[in-house]
Amino acid sequence: MLNDSYGRNIEYLRLSITDRCDFRCFYCLPRSHRDFETPADWMTPDEIVRLISQFATLGVKHVRLTGGEPLVRKEVGEIAQGISAIPGIEELSLSTNASRLAQFASPLRKAGVERLNISLDTLNEKKFQEITGHRLKPVLEGIEHAKQCGYSPIKINMVIMRGINDEDVAEMIEYCIEHGLTLRFIETMPVGEGGRSASEHYLPLAEIESRLRTRYSLQPATLRGSGPARYFRIDDSPLVVGFITPKSQHFCDTCNRVRVSVSGDLHLCLGQEDKLSLGKMMRSGCSDQELREAIHAAIARKPFRHQFNEVPTAIIRPMSALGG
Ligand code: SAM
Ligand code: SF4
Repeated sequence: MLNDSYGRNIEYLRLSITDRCDFRCFYCLPRSHRDFETPADWMTPDEIVRLISQFATLGVKHVRLTGGEPLVRKEVGEIAQGISAIPGIEELSLSTNASRLAQFASPLRKAGVERLNISLDTLNEKKFQEITGHRLKPVLEGIEHAKQCGYSPIKINMVIMRGINDEDVAEMIEYCIEHGLTLRFIETMPVGEGGRSASEHYLPLAEIESRLRTRYSLQPATLRGSGPARYFRIDDSPLVVGFITPKSQHFCDTCNRVRVSVSGDLHLCLGQEDKLSLGKMMRSGCSDQELREAIHAAIARKPFRHQFNEVPTAIIRPMSALGG
């Protein structure tokens, strides 16, 4: 079991398999960003399987593939297949912008990915292009393919930004009801230059909740693997909406996760810089036992919480480096 010094049990790992992306969401990966990881430092699929196997031995049960955009890494299928075959890994999920899902939804489902989180901030084509630098149509087509492949659940992640997409919530609710999707609202986080530039659009989600309550009845709901979101069912519809409030109401006391970058750095908290280079350890010839001991020791010093409110300038790396 991986327990930190605050008694939190770590059983969830987010693995970034690339820090590259075909989008440039302004709040995540600014166009000016150049400081990408060197391909020679990327963990190979074999190294990834070796590392995740050690985490599984220590009690990690759920792995989420993220990025950057995980579907731009050409070995994504091989990586998914390798991880889903590891004894002890009970769940493999994926976060994606969906631009390449039409191509990858079916092979990744066969490779063992069960659940999808998809970023979608607006259904307005022009606004989507302004936010992401990409076209909306392939994303909607990707979502359609994912539905047909039987992923369950498919959660839409909508980063809410005042004056940009906060008026688009009603339309997104209708879209999610029509397509049988779960919808989650996320507050902007001051991670990297992009995250900080989005801070001027920060909107506490309590405001969205009050707006929704004037129109719908919200009944508290629970979802499997709920994580940090607070969920509500909308009226009598099948739609469940979730609120993720890292800034206005942090959920660090129940944090059950750590993150690993594409080069094998173990990050103990999204909002802190403390990390350990497991990738370098593997390449310098350490044993599995040494890896496990290093992971154990690192988890023991996992920080209690982020400081997005107190020190908004703390995190220089972009969100795309670790995948949220
Ligand atoms: N490319 C994939 C995607 O977009 O889903 C996976 C990586 S992306 C970094 C993971 C999540 O982080 C997305 O839902 C995205 O909207 C969110 N995100 C990125 N930057 C953020 C920020 N500054 N504040 C809040 N959420 C952010
Ligand atoms: Fe790429 Fe996802 Fe970041 Fe957008 S949020 S730039 S899709 S990594």
